[in-house]
Amino acid sequence: MKHKTRNYPDSVHEYVRDTSLRLTPVMKKHLERNSKMPHGGGMATPPLQGQFLSFLIKSIGAKRAIEIGVFTGIGTHWIADALGPGGKVVACDVSEEFTSVGKPFWEKEGLADRIDLRLAPADKTLKELAENGETGSFDFCYIDADKGSYPKYYKLVLPLLKTGGVIAFDNMLQGGRVADPSIEDEPVATIRKLNKKLHKDKQVDVSFLPVGDGLYLARKR
Ligand code: CA
Repeated sequence: MKHKTRNYPDSVHEYVRDTSLRLTPVMKKHLERNSKMPHGGGMATPPLQGQFLSFLIKSIGAKRAIEIGVFTGIGTHWIADALGPGGKVVACDVSEEFTSVGKPFWEKEGLADRIDLRLAPADKTLKELAENGETGSFDFCYIDADKGSYPKYYKLVLPLLKTGGVIAFDNMLQGGRVADPSIEDEPVATIRKLNKKLHKDKQVDVSFLPVGDGLYLARKR
């Protein structure tokens, strides 16, 4: 197939990291701490993806963000930093244990006042934001949480965004399983359906990046 995304060897990925990645000393320590989590902290946002999200946030001049799925707060760290002074990220997660890992690093980086951590099911927090009149007031949303709930999160987040606001959905390739029609189990079926829905959804402009585990970008029209 023409125009396919290349499958680069690790040495090329290392080259890309070596020639572009910029980590603050605090972020380095945060990543080190995350790597000591079970399974090597693999649920955290990879550094190159974090830097891309940061670039995107700065490019659209975002000041108010929502993050769904905090885990150890690496993504939160990137987002809060990118928002700049006066920025605010509503960070949604249910785990006090995991989010607590991130807190000292947010503080050391001087970002604590930009992070509004809500320990509750994300759909509850999103409904509260709407009830509090915060509809149409957010610039950016990063969704990296329980995959089965992605359609629900999309439905709740879209009204909270301003026109031009961007949603980044992570893990939309499900390790490539979405492209194998013989796989019908969850969450693959749900994510496959959402990819189709986004493709057709006239409420948003879209771009599906086959980087990491698939990052689907949707910009509210
Ligand atoms: Ca992820």
